[in-house]
Amino acid sequence: MRIVALAGGIGGARFLRGLKDVVAPGDEITVIGNTGDDIHLFGLKVCPDLDTVMYTLGGGIHEEQGWGRSEESYAVKDELAAYGVGPSWFGLGDKDFATHIVRTQMLGAGYPLSAVTEALCDRWQPGVRLLPMSDDRVETHVRITDEQGTRAVHFQEYWVKLHAAVTAEAIIPVGADTAKPAPGVLEAIAAADVILLPPSNPVVSIGTILAVPGIRRAVAQAAAPVVGLSPIIGGAPVRGMADKVLAAVGVEATAEAVALHYGSDLIDGWLVDEADADAVAAVTAGGIRCLAVPLLMSDPAATAAMARAALDLAERVRA
Ligand code: GDP
Ligand code: CA
Repeated sequence: MRIVALAGGIGGARFLRGLKDVVAPGDEITVIGNTGDDIHLFGLKVCPDLDTVMYTLGGGIHEEQGWGRSEESYAVKDELAAYGVGPSWFGLGDKDFATHIVRTQMLGAGYPLSAVTEALCDRWQPGVRLLPMSDDRVETHVRITDEQGTRAVHFQEYWVKLHAAVTAEAIIPVGADTAKPAPGVLEAIAAADVILLPPSNPVVSIGTILAVPGIRRAVAQAAAPVVGLSPIIGGAPVRGMADKVLAAVGVEATAEAVALHYGSDLIDGWLVDEADADAVAAVTAGGIRCLAVPLLMSDPAATAAMARAALDLAERVRA
């Protein structure tokens, strides 16, 4: 079986770990990763979502934090700060720096991001084929208004520095309109037996991937059933501030509203948490098969059960 998943960072990576636990040997998982969160820092190209997937599936993730390396130190960051060189708000550990140095060096030598990601994964052996959504530069910006006036800031500045405390007026995936899907992306979608949308951020993770011309249409027209899992439980994101970016695109932070935002032209099935059993009728009325199951990735077994439920729903849709 060929499974394709679109993924952001923490929510996507954790789900993928559960998915790996339930697939049969020989099944292939292709992950199309969001690169709209990418940022250049200290002359280095940082790809937070690709790295979160790679470290999580490769056994190098800082478990509690959900991003960055385990057993990390921050000597380089401290030294940069001693020089007065920022930004200080983005946490880059020493081990993590090495990843960004290798990536930047390879990009500088002319390799596309997809080839660089494959090379990095040679070390981490994530057990999935990890593809960036595009080799072209895409950077999500957020329009805000504060004491400095109305301006666009990089998504990381909005999310990490400002903690999404300022109203997001618009989300702009800069460069997406002219980006091309990375090699293998459209082919993987077309050849998939199942396409999954993990509980990743619907706007700045999955939404950004779908904003790359050709990807949304490929998913919508794929022969495979498309099943998503709600990142929203009980009217709030499980983790993070997805409600803030949903508001910016005029979508309520509910399991039902997110399903209808994706739309029945894109997804065939949708899983909501048992706490949102009330939403099943409305999602179903919207033309999307919907079930309520436990959706908290509290431990590996619970996460694996979610993946199993998503694959089961895909089978039902297919039948
Ligand atoms: P990011 O790039 O690190 O922000 O990660 P993603 O975009 O992949 O995922 C973020 C989303 O994951 C958030 O909107 C969370 O609500 C969701 N999430 C995190 N943990 C869980 C969980 O245990 N269950 C569900 N259903 N969603 C989760
Ligand atoms: Ca992200």
